[in-house]
Amino acid sequence: MNYRGHLTVGIATFMLLYVLLFLLNIRISALNTLIGFFVCMFGSLAPDLDIKSSKIHRWSYIGAFFTGIALFFLIVNDDFITALVISSVITCILFLSVFFLAKLKHRGFTHHMSGFILFVICVLLFFHLIKMHVPLLSPEVVTLFGASGYLSHIIADFI
Ligand SMILES: [Zn+2]
Repeated sequence: MNYRGHLTVGIATFMLLYVLLFLLNIRISALNTLIGFFVCMFGSLAPDLDIKSSKIHRWSYIGAFFTGIALFFLIVNDDFITALVISSVITCILFLSVFFLAKLKHRGFTHHMSGFILFVICVLLFFHLIKMHVPLLSPEVVTLFGASGYLSHIIADFI
């Protein structure tokens, strides 16, 4: 399945989960819905980071760069040097992760449960870091959407 197919399945998964949470009387704020949507879309393509020619591989370098900049401006009010160090370190980690994931065998680690668990842990930790500066953000809700997107990719590939 190509990236368009995975994005379509990802959007369907996002809507299904949103309706399910609504039926369970769990209301999600506009901010968490918006961020959750983008994380779900990223999750629905993320397993294919193990393909060097994939769209998500190329987009992720740009994404890593802008994530670093956004992070810097989020935390710069605390202390300039700390913000610079944290955002630089995270950008480097993201760049290296994208680079090394492309060296893996296609449909190996990233398409298995171990890759899924690592993805969930990383997303959760990342949004907990951001939550310190954006109190309205719910790392758990955003991660839930990301996890559903990631699973939708693995299941779609499997089918
Ligand atoms: Zn795949």
